[in-house]
This record gives sequence, structure tokens and C-alpha cells, in this order.
Amino acid sequence: MNIHLIRSLELDQEKFVAIYDLIHQYSGPVQYLIHEQPDEYSTDEVETEIWEEERIAKKVMPSRNVVCDNVAPYPTQFLRWDSIFDHCEAARRFYHIPDDEPVVLLTEHANEYNWFSGADRNGKRNLFVHTGMWDRYIFYDMRYPVVYLLAAIPLRLQMFDTFEDMVGYFHQEPRGCMNDFCQEKKDIGLKLRTADICPDCRKRIQDRKADPQVVAQVFRVFESIRTQMLFRASFTHNPTPSRLWIDYPKRKVYLTDLGNLRIPLNPMEKTVFHFFLNYPDGVAFSALPDHRNELCTLYRHYSDTPVFATITARIDDICANKRDCLSQVISRIRRKFEDAVPEEIAGQYVIGGEAGRKRKILIDRSLVSIGE
Ligand SMILES: [Zn+2]
Repeated sequence: MNIHLIRSLELDQEKFVAIYDLIHQYSGPVQYLIHEQPDEYSTDEVETEIWEEERIAKKVMPSRNVVCDNVAPYPTQFLRWDSIFDHCEAARRFYHIPDDEPVVLLTEHANEYNWFSGADRNGKRNLFVHTGMWDRYIFYDMRYPVVYLLAAIPLRLQMFDTFEDMVGYFHQEPRGCMNDFCQEKKDIGLKLRTADICPDCRKRIQDRKADPQVVAQVFRVFESIRTQMLFRASFTHNPTPSRLWIDYPKRKVYLTDLGNLRIPLNPMEKTVFHFFLNYPDGVAFSALPDHRNELCTLYRHYSDTPVFATITARIDDICANKRDCLSQVISRIRRKFEDAVPEEIAGQYVIGGEAGRKRKILIDRSLVSIGE
């Protein structure tokens, strides 16, 4: 089964790709594919209202007495429920996606009923997942709840014929099950931590003869998210650095134990980072000209620049730390790791050391792999 993820224009592309990088890792019959939202169908129909808590609490799904997810009152940009699915349908036509393959709009905008995921009530396989506002809650990494919701889609499609069936079935009292109705975004944390499905839902999965391989794939995602969240949670009492992987052919840097969290280094940052990884004992800035050829080779690979003169000019500047360019590269690397993990963990990956002395990266090299 193919599941097509459509990036709504306001969703940052890095964030979109990071979500895809995580969900794409789990092999099985369900394949996730990504598409840009066609420009002419951009989600530009957002409306803005001040959402008062009381008012939101009274909002219900049409024809269902279900109270929806709650947020604090503040001006909220949101999309009308039906317009979300119009966008899915437009993308479906644009990309010639067959009717039986789900199309999921990933959007930063909230929606009329303030749900964090939902589906077309008309029975079409059009869905959405809200990627915004998670950082206001309990998550270290917004990819976890989003990927959880995406992973649940194929299983839910096998468990329920319609969105109304699913909403009617939801457990109103939380059981730590995929089908708990989470009234607030923070409630989804329980599902993520248990990574489980309750006995009633397991029976329903059996009765509906859900594809065991799909079930297994969904459970692998749930379990992996749970493990990654535990790994992150352990940072507070046992700061253990994640393994680091440089996918050299694809020129990407990942923290393996955090669901291959990609560190978005640019080509020069990758060059300098990779170079210092090669020298566990460190290299002083003054010794860099001795390594000019090695740096050029790395930069040629990471920048994919065929113009040799450009490569040598940039590397000569780095070797001389001209206008502090090397120091700036090193501080950008530091900032990107600090954005990804707590400071005490980030300290393992950054290029440290005093001026005039050898500079080095502390990480235990047995945790580092470079290659495919
Ligand atoms: Zn259940």
C-alpha cells in the first residue's frame, strides 16, 4: 500500500523531509511517498479567529457528540474541515494517485474542529495530520507524534470502514491504546509511551482479518518511537550520546539512536566535521594547511562542486581561518547539534579545545560509523 504525504506550503520543507526520513525507515508493505503540494492548490484559505477555551469545548464533530481537542484561547489560523480534503483531492488529481491509496496533507495550520488528525467523512481516502503546536506540549521531537499518527493510518483503514465508524469507536477513557480519543495534544504522550493496542482493538484487528505484515510494520514504528523517547528521557539522569552515522555516499549526518535524526549540516560544515572525526587526538588550527589535500577531497565530495578552483579557494580560507570563517563553521556545527540534543550531549559532537591548542571532537569513535 502506498501512502502519499503532501506538504502544505506553510510547512517547512526541512521539517517535512525529517518526518519522511523517520517514517521511511521501517520496511514493510506500507510505503510512504512524498509530494509537494501543487502551487495552484496552495492552502491559502486560512481563517483567523480568537479561539476561546469555552467555545472550543463546545465544538463538536457534525452529527457526533464528540468534544474536540482543546487549546488555550489565542488567535488561531485554521483551515475549514472540508477545504483540507479538497486539497488532498486536488493533489490526488495532480499526481494521478489511485482512489484506493491514501493521500495525507501535512499542515501547520489548525483546523475547524481542532483535531490533530482526521479523515474525509465522504469515505474518500483523504486525510490530514496537524504538524504544528506539538512543541507546546511534551515532545522533545515533534516528529514522534506526527509519525505515530501517520503509522496508525494503514491499521485504522483496515479496522474501520469510515471515519465516522472510527470516531464512534474511539475509547473515551484512555487505555494507552492507539484508538484512545485524545482530547488534548498532551494526552497522546500516553499512547507513544505504551506503544500498545488494547485487547478489544487486537480482537477487532483479528476479526477484520487485517494484513499481519501491515500490523507488524505499524508495531515496529510504535515500538521504535517508544524506544527513542525513552532514550531521550534518559538524557536527564544518564546522558548517553547517540551513535553517529555519516552516510557518505548520500552526504548526510544522522544520530542513529534518535530515529536517524538528521543534523542539517551544509557542505562546508560536513567537511570540517568529518575531518575532525578522522583525528580523535585533535588537530590544531595552525596544522590545518598540512591537511589541505584531505580537506579538499572531503569538500569536493560534500559540495559536489566540479570547479576545482572554487574548492581550493574555499579550503585555503578555512585553513587560514580567514575572517574567522573556520570559527564560524565550528560554531554553526555546535548550534545545529545543540538544536537537536541537550547541551551536555551536544558537547560530545562539537569541535572543542582552547585557542592555540589541538581542537577535537570528544565522541567515542566506537559510536561513529562513516560509510553506507
Ligand atoms: Zn483499543
